Amino acid sequence: MDLIYLDNNATTKVAPEVLEVMLPYFKEEYANPSSIYEFAKKANHTVRDSRGVIKDFLNAANEKEILFTSCGSESANTAIRGVLNMNKNKRHIITTKVEHPCVLNLYQTLEKEGYKVDYIGVNSNGELDLAQLEEAINYDTALVSIMYANNETGVIYPIEKISEIIKSKNKETKFFVDAVQAAGKIPIDVQALGVDLLGISGHKFHAPKGVGVLYVNSKTLITPLIIGGHQERGKRAGTENVPYIAGIAKAAELAMDSMNYELTEVKRLRDKLESGIIKNIFNSRINTSISNRVPNTTNIGFEYIEGELILLHLSDLGICASSGSACTSGSLEPSHVLRAMNVPFTAIHGSIRWSLSRYTKESEIDYVLKVLPGIIDKITALSPYQDELANLKRLRG
Ligand code: PLP
Repeated sequence: MDLIYLDNNATTKVAPEVLEVMLPYFKEEYANPSSIYEFAKKANHTVRDSRGVIKDFLNAANEKEILFTSCGSESANTAIRGVLNMNKNKRHIITTKVEHPCVLNLYQTLEKEGYKVDYIGVNSNGELDLAQLEEAINYDTALVSIMYANNETGVIYPIEKISEIIKSKNKETKFFVDAVQAAGKIPIDVQALGVDLLGISGHKFHAPKGVGVLYVNSKTLITPLIIGGHQERGKRAGTENVPYIAGIAKAAELAMDSMNYELTEVKRLRDKLESGIIKNIFNSRINTSISNRVPNTTNIGFEYIEGELILLHLSDLGICASSGSACTSGSLEPSHVLRAMNVPFTAIHGSIRWSLSRYTKESEIDYVLKVLPGIIDKITALSPYQDELANLKRLRG
């Protein structure tokens, strides 16, 4: 049975070209890039050149604004703690209700440490309440942290507009953007966006797990999260992970080359999957269908049934997708993102995130569209909500 992998927002496969550029640094070129002998030159130049590639990938003004980290979570933690440590007199911070846990849980920790926090809400399409954001920013606001694209729904937030709102209310407030789900899917231009800090993670765009980037513009000062040697201009200690740094740079090059494909062909396949499901399965609903989404993601609710059951049936056929639920202390909590969007309780437990990549084939989408109605029928037949389902069928015909 061939694997059909439609969970690319969880992680992606390493591109063969990426693996190829990494291998020499595990074998012949294992030098520490900080060493001064000739043997270390290649490793040193690879880190330097990779920084240049990532500068271009994000359209940063200068290589010095690029820090290599171990993951998206580290980038977010470094940005948020780093900015707050430099601005100890300010005690107010803002984020949204739909952030990834690497931001949301950190903000909750900061709240316990005495920060006043505002969590901005979203509407039923997952779009941010910009008026609430504007109202929340005040003279004491040290930092705003808002993601570029949501990992569960794919909704893209208007970062450029948000930057303008922030700076018009308080020029000193710093703006961090978690762009982990945007990198490789839509172009990122940190200068046009007007952001102060921005984080990405390699494993979401065909580099391996264990490498990330933090962009920090030259006007923004941060303290390091990891204290030690002088690496990354003193902002992130630890010997540079040369093979992974080479890998994320190659993945960024490939992403720039395939951006057009991503925006057209990957989107076409995503739209085909989405409309095929909605057309053929009466108890399905798109949780947000706005056009301003990354091209690879859709989130679809199946009413009156459990998402975990759907995933298990899909898994039996080699199909990987994901539900928004996080298993906490033995109980299945519905996704905080879908809850913030007020997705009806009839659909929230049966919501599935499908995320494609440039490796997704049309035949795979066709296969999912062929087998999914049978799976949903089987599960629906066992639902305790037969009267409600019959009503829904009558309504939707
Ligand atoms: N931010 C977003 C939006 C994500 O989707 C993820 C991972 O799922 C992260 C941050 C964390 O990235 P990492 O797994 O590299 O720590």
